Amino acid sequence: MPNYNSLVAIKKALRNEELTCSQLVEYYLRKIQATDDLNAYIEVFEEKAIARAIELDAKFKSKPDTCGRLFGMVVSIKDVLCYKDHKVTAASKILENFSSLYTATAVQRLLDEDAIIIGRVNCDQFAMGSSNENSIYGPVKNALNKEKVPGGSSGGSAVAVQTDTCLASIGSDTGGSVRQPAAFCGIIGMKPTYGRISRYGLLAYASSFDQIGVLTRSVSDAALLIEVMAGPDEFDATVSHNPPSYYSKKLEFDGKAKIAYFDTALNHSSIDPEIKKSSTTLIENLKADGHTVEAVDFEYLDYIIPAYYVLTTAEASSNLSRFDGIRFGYRSEKVTSLEDTYKKSRTEGFSEEVKKRIMLGTFVLSSGYYDAYYTKAQKVRRLIKERTEEILKKYDFILMPTSPAPAWNIGEMADDPVQMYLADIFTVQANMAGIPAISLPLATHSNGMPFGVQLMASQFQESLLFSFSQYLMENIIEKEKV
Ligand code: GLN
Repeated sequence: MPNYNSLVAIKKALRNEELTCSQLVEYYLRKIQATDDLNAYIEVFEEKAIARAIELDAKFKSKPDTCGRLFGMVVSIKDVLCYKDHKVTAASKILENFSSLYTATAVQRLLDEDAIIIGRVNCDQFAMGSSNENSIYGPVKNALNKEKVPGGSSGGSAVAVQTDTCLASIGSDTGGSVRQPAAFCGIIGMKPTYGRISRYGLLAYASSFDQIGVLTRSVSDAALLIEVMAGPDEFDATVSHNPPSYYSKKLEFDGKAKIAYFDTALNHSSIDPEIKKSSTTLIENLKADGHTVEAVDFEYLDYIIPAYYVLTTAEASSNLSRFDGIRFGYRSEKVTSLEDTYKKSRTEGFSEEVKKRIMLGTFVLSSGYYDAYYTKAQKVRRLIKERTEEILKKYDFILMPTSPAPAWNIGEMADDPVQMYLADIFTVQANMAGIPAISLPLATHSNGMPFGVQLMASQFQESLLFSFSQYLMENIIEKEKV
């Protein structure tokens, strides 16, 4: 069976009767088995996926016109998305054996358009991490080099797509969790505008940052999945009432773009020289193609990560308070009182990283320190957001590497968590400002690992972002590879 890189190709094969959904699912199931050692999947919905494929094949035979927009799309979902009667654990012991009571709006919309969900994939515990090492199921390995991390927190999603065990994966992005693993695994990762997709049924990490995103092998699939999941939802008050447009039908980009980049980013002390070089070449190629690409000042780069960790830990400390050992999942058995139940269940149920963040968040919200940390970080966020918006009034896009370095070795950052936090320096800005951003595979490092380029656009400019990405992938990035 050929390797399909987009739903367009799969649909064509289905229409020409060269392929059935059942064959497709069988192929992916075999691939999942063959790549089992990478630890991307927590659970494979084998029987259900096969049954659904049979059902969809029958539907296609009898009433082809009634097949949904995602007919032929096989996806995996990150272990933070609720799917009724299926387990969801956020890769944490505290949710051990917990089954979803309802289906996330985003997941329901995929199902309504005839997607097949093949399994639940690994991630960092409560989506906290950049390497997928912080999971009760153990680390996920990068298929290109098993010593390397796949990135995180949607590391299972990235490897699932990288290894062709599904066509796309649904992840979540609070500070880069979709874009960074996509870059580390050589695929596409897209996070839309904050509020574009309902977060009903997404386990919350930091609610003013969290957004559902997608990992795919083609821009057209990313565009289609976002357009299907986006749009108003009565269950999430933060979701935009603007109806989404048909992004996947508007992938033509004509005209010339105005693009900003930051010298402070390209010359940042943490940047790998090869990533800098490729990004600079890309800028030159864009200029040669007639686009305006200019360096602009952005003076807040080094404030992004500190502010992000004050705000997200504060929000996490509140969001994760519901996991009390009573209502969901794990409860410690060695308890003597109610208070003891809370304390021991939480102590035993959360990982060290999650506990560290809850404590940090509780600290920055405590009365004596609230203004010094939380209020100050809110002010910094406002400055970052306003400056970003100001730049995007003059330019269509901001371009920068997705990450300053390619994937590191498993265990390498274990003793230096701050180093790992700093690796998100380029992705967090989009979450701070609530704007859409995409990571496209740019090139391969001399060490064999891929890296990405990131584009950000103004709020709700998804259509522009997708069409320009498509143009980049077809004309500029490919050109650079040869
Ligand atoms: N690595 C970042 C963090 O640990 C981002 C995670 C995410 O986007 N969910 O918070």
